[in-house]
Amino acid sequence: PILKVAIMGLGSYGTRVAEAMKDCKRAKLVGVISGTPSKIKDWQSKYGIPKKNCYNYENFDAIKDNPDIDAVYIITPNGLHKDQAIRVAKAGKHVISEKPMAINAEEGQAMVDACKAAKVKLLIGYRMHFEPKTVEVIKMRKNGEFGKVKFFQGQSGFTIGNPNQWRLDKKLAGGGAMMDIGIYSINGARYMLGEDPVWVTAQETKTDPVKFKEGVDETIQFQLGFPSGAVANCLSTYNMSHLDRFFMTGSDGWVEMKPSTGYGPIKGRTHKGELDQPHITHQTLQMDGMAQLIFDGVQPIVPVDGEEGLKDMKIIDAIYKAAKTGDKITIDL
Ligand code: NAD
Repeated sequence: PILKVAIMGLGSYGTRVAEAMKDCKRAKLVGVISGTPSKIKDWQSKYGIPKKNCYNYENFDAIKDNPDIDAVYIITPNGLHKDQAIRVAKAGKHVISEKPMAINAEEGQAMVDACKAAKVKLLIGYRMHFEPKTVEVIKMRKNGEFGKVKFFQGQSGFTIGNPNQWRLDKKLAGGGAMMDIGIYSINGARYMLGEDPVWVTAQETKTDPVKFKEGVDETIQFQLGFPSGAVANCLSTYNMSHLDRFFMTGSDGWVEMKPSTGYGPIKGRTHKGELDQPHITHQTLQMDGMAQLIFDGVQPIVPVDGEEGLKDMKIIDAIYKAAKTGDKITIDL
């Protein structure tokens, strides 16, 4: 079957996903949820969406009576994901939520619980888990081609513009750069090394307290320790341009990816040479992959489920705590 998807939140990333879904073989955009009638009209004509599949934020619970929608992809500001996901779950539809799944682990847990109770899937928009070069590097690590992996370095950031956007509003964003872009280094450390961290330390730098208000992090450096003894050293920032690099080294080899998590093409090389897997639009692969996961039980190389998202939320909570207290925080995922 084809996964029939409604997108909630018709902003910049929602638009990117809609465009990418045109090339999907197993997923199709069939509905929208938006607070802006003019956008709904626009999307209806652009993507051939019937009126009966259009909802707003007040009435979308009625989606439960719509057999033509299987899943809702939530692409709204982070602080709205939890309540929206719970409503979608209660309507009996699968939930796909953008990253970060929520703004803290408590909210993430509530989403996991609600989806479990409603017997619907909860998937997080971790597009890199479907990206061919990333998948190849993970396979190489699993095959032991780097030997014993020991060190990961992740640098994720960009210079954020407009000071009035929701990404700089603690209520809607849940934090700052860490929630938005630092999460790529967190998730990357885990899928590159193939382990979950057991401790974190972190240091915060704020050069512009006017733009980056209380609770909105500008730059955080953080370190993660893993059960094998491997360590990660990462940087998350909203105040340096084009920072998108992963490096990992082991006893027998290494890999550097730059860019490592942008929309692509991803570029990288290992001790064996250039990574030459083809670039395919990440969101196309992701949505086809999620359809295969939902209908055929085919798991991606790294999970994209709610528990996976929850691990990153627990790590973010610990990083914020470590940055605030200066303590080494132990975590048990
Ligand atoms: P955006 O501002 O472009 O779009 C957000 C949309 O939500 C807008 O259409 C806005 O109208 C709507 N919205 C609904 N209620 C709102 C409210 N109360 N306040 C503000 N906006 C409201 O943002 P975006 O870049 O599309 O990001 C949306 C989500 O997608 C975020 O969670 C973000 O982290 C995620 N994202 C993921 C990726 C990725 O590569 N996976 C990339 C970009 C964004």
